[in-house]
Amino acid sequence: MSLKVTMLGTGVGIPQPGRSQAAILMESDQLLLLDCGAGTLLRLDQLGASLEDLDTVVLTHLHLDHVSDLMALANARYLADMPGLQVFGPEGTDVYFKIAKSVYPNLEEMDVAVRELLPMDSITLNGFDIFAEEARHSVTALAYRLEAEEKVVVYSGDTEPCPRVAALARGADLLIHECSFPEPFDVTNHTTPRKLGIMLKDQGVKRVILTHLYPQAAGCEDEMAEQVIELSGAPTIVGWDMMSVVI
Ligand SMILES: [Zn+2]
Ligand SMILES: [Zn+2]
Repeated sequence: MSLKVTMLGTGVGIPQPGRSQAAILMESDQLLLLDCGAGTLLRLDQLGASLEDLDTVVLTHLHLDHVSDLMALANARYLADMPGLQVFGPEGTDVYFKIAKSVYPNLEEMDVAVRELLPMDSITLNGFDIFAEEARHSVTALAYRLEAEEKVVVYSGDTEPCPRVAALARGADLLIHECSFPEPFDVTNHTTPRKLGIMLKDQGVKRVILTHLYPQAAGCEDEMAEQVIELSGAPTIVGWDMMSVVI
């Protein structure tokens, strides 16, 4: 059994061609969805993925470009008479759903089970051994290391390059790291290629996919990947929606 990763959404909150909002589909013998930004349902449909098998979502944080399609997914499963959805996310996910249920009481009928994860938590979901680590973002955010089929995939979520995510990524077969802006943007809470390249030097990451690109990155994709490669030595490509890799 191989491990397949599909970039469903490689964009951000600002609409742009070819990039819907953050979402990644992990597939071994079972499915797991990481983040569920606006556009995810459409991408899943384009992929021909069965909603029946999509019963588990793991969120990095609660920014809208990572959660906008979550209730739409719960509703789609409910309308198709499928069992409930389980949602894992950082601190705040419980309150988010409690407030949502006060506006949409039928979320109760949709049977959405929520569990919060803390940094350093480990959990096994749908055949994936998952370890959570604290990212460095403007709100509480987690990065994840996922292991299945003896392969390791790390997803940064939204973050500035930081030592915790670097340690999480060490030796990974695939690192999916946000790279929101090209050089010479100077940003906090997000990542640019040079800082990422420096962070990844000597970390032994076998393959890197850049995601979460702002419109300012349009036209700079090749250059961004090259800058990361130049400083880190890690094979790096820029992700696009519907790109799949098998590891
Ligand atoms: Zn964010
Ligand atoms: Zn984001």
